[in-house]
Amino acid sequence: MENNNTRRNFLKQTAILSTGTIIGSSLFNSVLAAENNLKTENQVLEPENFDFQENYSLPKLPYSYDALEPHIDKATMEIHHSKHHQAYVTNLNKAIETLDKNLVEHSKSLENIFEKMSKFPEAIRNNGGGHYNHSLFWSLMKPNGGGTPKGKLGDAIMSTFGSFDEFKKQFSDASMKRFGSGWAWLVVQDGKLVIGSTANQDNPLMRLRGKGLKGKPVLALDVWEHAYYLKNQNRRADYIASFWNVVNWEAAEALFNS
Ligand code: MN
Repeated sequence: MENNNTRRNFLKQTAILSTGTIIGSSLFNSVLAAENNLKTENQVLEPENFDFQENYSLPKLPYSYDALEPHIDKATMEIHHSKHHQAYVTNLNKAIETLDKNLVEHSKSLENIFEKMSKFPEAIRNNGGGHYNHSLFWSLMKPNGGGTPKGKLGDAIMSTFGSFDEFKKQFSDASMKRFGSGWAWLVVQDGKLVIGSTANQDNPLMRLRGKGLKGKPVLALDVWEHAYYLKNQNRRADYIASFWNVVNWEAAEALFNS
């Protein structure tokens, strides 16, 4: 029975893939939806779609571990998803068990958690951020990705940064300059595209005090060493260069348009 369900889900995902008209993030959302018992396939990757049923759960990757080769290697993808991302999910669920009763209600979606971030302990911030950021990141890559963004996002990048190369330069700079572990982001902030970065597993949706980057994510890049050390060792710049070959611009545009 379980095998049948798994097979049905697989066939469903394959069917979605083969239509070619369904964008990457929708595919990923359909996977997430299957994971989290959500109802529709076209939900955009918003934190409110990350439902707490009995537990938060690890979403399946929308492609195989070796699908991003040679740009991002199979071993990195496998460990990153099945070990690192899984650990954020496991530790998020554990941290929720230790919350005061009044906070448990607020922990039922990542949206609520990020909205009230400063009320939660550090473990929820780190692991809730880790779960969302990685889910988003997987959906923002695809085999045979890269190229240049089209549509409204492409237009907005051109008008904000002058050229795609200038955008890439600024995003790569933000990725290089994040000291230690963190994420680089392209976000929509007050109707404008803004590039920035966050530390650790923080993200621009978290309502936190201070001057950190705020906005709605459009593109995200994990610059923790665990994201590139096996293949690139200490050469973060090489990893960033590889990322441009696997960006899922259709998924980024869906986030931008939502
Ligand atoms: Mn990571």
